[in-house]
Amino acid sequence: MEMVKKDIRQFSRVGLLEVMTELGEKPYRAKQIYEWIWSKSATSFDEMTNISKSFRSQLKAHFEFLPIRKDIQQTSHDGTVKASFRLFDENLIEGVLIPSDHRMTACISSQVGCSLSCAFCATGYLERKRNLTPAEIYDQVIQINLMALDIYKLPLTNIVLMGMGEPLLNYPNVMQAIDHLISPEGLGMSSRRITLSTAGIAKMIRKLADDEVRFNLALSLHAATDQKRNQIMPINASNSLQSLSDALQYFYQKTNSKITLEYIAFKNFNDGPEDVEDLYHFAKKIPCLINIIEYNPIDQATFQKSSFETLEKFRASLEKKGLNVRLRRSRGKDIDAACGQLANKRD
Ligand code: SF4
Repeated sequence: MEMVKKDIRQFSRVGLLEVMTELGEKPYRAKQIYEWIWSKSATSFDEMTNISKSFRSQLKAHFEFLPIRKDIQQTSHDGTVKASFRLFDENLIEGVLIPSDHRMTACISSQVGCSLSCAFCATGYLERKRNLTPAEIYDQVIQINLMALDIYKLPLTNIVLMGMGEPLLNYPNVMQAIDHLISPEGLGMSSRRITLSTAGIAKMIRKLADDEVRFNLALSLHAATDQKRNQIMPINASNSLQSLSDALQYFYQKTNSKITLEYIAFKNFNDGPEDVEDLYHFAKKIPCLINIIEYNPIDQATFQKSSFETLEKFRASLEKKGLNVRLRRSRGKDIDAACGQLANKRD
C-alpha cells in the first residue's frame, strides 16, 4: 500500500525537529530544512543541495510539497496586476500586486472564499470553502514578488492581508505564515511592512494584542453606527462598534501601534454630514489613520460610488476635526482587482 505523504511545510520549527528525531537524523537538519523552505523558498527536496542524496530520497518518500500555481495573470491600465492561483485541491484564490510611487504592495488572501458575507464585497458572495495553509499564504508573497521583479524590476516592499477571506478566522495559519515571512531564518521581512485587515472580530483583536504582534492592524469599518454597519456587515451583529472600539484601544495599549480605519464611501449611504459626525465619534477615541476608499461597484450589489467631490468634502470635514485622513483612489477596477472585487471571475 502506498504511504500517504505529508506536506513538509505544515511543520513548525519544533515539528521539524520531531520529524528529524523520528527519522534518526541530527537536530541541525531541521534548521537546514527550515531555511531551505522558508528563507530560500524551496518547493522541492532536490533544491536542498547541502543535504545528501540518500537523505533527500528518504524525505521524498515521506513528505511532499503542495505549492500554489499561478493560473491567470491580468494587468490593469493603471499598472495593478491580479493573479489567480490554483491550489493543490484545484480551489482558486486571488492576489494582487499594487505598484505605487514608493511601494510595491502585495494584497494576499487568507481563505478560499469568505464566510462573512459583507454586502458590498464580491468575495462575500462566494462560499467559504477552507482556510489557506501557512505555505499557501507564504507562496502568494513569493509569487507576487516574482511578478514585481519581472514587470517592474523591483521587489515587494509591503504586504497587506486584505484579499479573499477574514484573516482572524484563520488565526493560527495566518500567524504562522507571518512568522515565516518575518523571522530571520525565514524571509526576514520587517513586520512594520505587513498589515492585517479585519472585518472586526473583537475577541481576536484582543488576542492579537495579547500576542503583542508587531505588524499593522487595519479595521474595515465602512459605517460608524451599529444601525448602518449591521446593514452591510453581518459580523457587526455579534461584534458591536463599542466592542470593537474597546478592543482597538486595548490593541493600542499593548502594541503602541496606530490602527488604520478603512472606510469605503457608498453614495447616499455613509457619505453625508451626519456620517462625518458618526465617524468622528468613533475615531476620536482610537489612535488611528483613516483611509477613505472609493467604492468599486460589483454586479451582486446595488451600492454606488460617491462622487469625487463628495469624497473630498468628507475627507476635509474629518481633517478639520483633527483626524488624520487620506483619500484612496481605487486601483485595478478594470480587471476586478480592486478592494472588494476578488471573486475568481474569469472573462
Ligand atoms: S470584505 Fe473581507 S470579510 Fe467581508 S466578505 Fe469580503 S473578504 Fe469577507
